Amino acid sequence: MSENPELVINDRWIVSNRGRKNSVDPQKPYAWLVEKERSISGEIEDIAIIFLTNRECPFRCLMCDLWKNTTDESVPAGAIPNQIKWALNHLPEVKHLKLYNSGSFFDGRAIPEEDYKKIASLVSNFETVIVESHPRLINEKCLLFRDMLKPELQVVLGLETVHTEILRKLNKQMTLEDFRNSVSYLTQHRIPSRAFILLRPPFLTESEGIYWAERSIDFAFSAGVECCTVIPVRAGNGAMDLLLGKGHFAPPDIHSLETVLEYGIKLNAGRVFADVWDLGLFSSCNKCIDQRTNRLIAMNLSQDIISRIECTCD
Ligand code: SF4
Ligand SMILES: [Zn+2]
Repeated sequence: MSENPELVINDRWIVSNRGRKNSVDPQKPYAWLVEKERSISGEIEDIAIIFLTNRECPFRCLMCDLWKNTTDESVPAGAIPNQIKWALNHLPEVKHLKLYNSGSFFDGRAIPEEDYKKIASLVSNFETVIVESHPRLINEKCLLFRDMLKPELQVVLGLETVHTEILRKLNKQMTLEDFRNSVSYLTQHRIPSRAFILLRPPFLTESEGIYWAERSIDFAFSAGVECCTVIPVRAGNGAMDLLLGKGHFAPPDIHSLETVLEYGIKLNAGRVFADVWDLGLFSSCNKCIDQRTNRLIAMNLSQDIISRIECTCD
């Protein structure tokens, strides 16, 4: 692990290194798409994702770039239902829906509580609704929203890493106990949860990155999540680029993502997915990047180990 005695990573330092936000419309989601996912029962199903435009997350995690598509102030009541209505008009009919809001769904300054009823009625035809939240914002509001919903509610929580020193440096403002308590709370109330896990956060070598991602999967399943998604860490938010320039961060290699996904699937403790967005960033080999990406996608969907790609870059 590299040392960084001169750096004080806090909200102010992280925000001071940011660039400009993108221009967003509070009445429209900033993106929407459909992707395939393997369900708990083993079927490959389409899931719609609506990326809601709302007020920036109050946390300032070191690796986060989600602030880029947020507003500075809360959006007015009614805006979030309008965004959902807009997106549903542009999306095909599918059974499952992710409502991702670049922060926490249960942050009242992002999603006004008075909109819950309208949201619940708009999504009543889905079988599952998946939202994301910081573990410290898991409370009775989840139950309030769950009780209004016809579909099953699932919640994704960022665990990031179980390396406690790195977790502190990520400025996540969360302990492993917070994560465990939130998962327990959701489980007690029969709300399935998922975890986001980072592959190679800053200050770790490649092999440490693999080791800690695997330990984080172990921890997440032992806490009670049903599914883990492994996300290779990238630069691009200002602070991470600065760490990259100083040698405190390097993006993980796609081979490591393959190793961690294989590990997670072999555990057989729940579904494990690799985030496959823009994987070209994590490979320097043009010969095998497409094959490796396809292998990761196939393993996500089959939850089986597929034979490794052989290439001169191994
Ligand atoms: S809690 Fe999530 S959305 Fe908020 S800053 Fe951290 S990573 Fe980003
Ligand atoms: Zn190669």
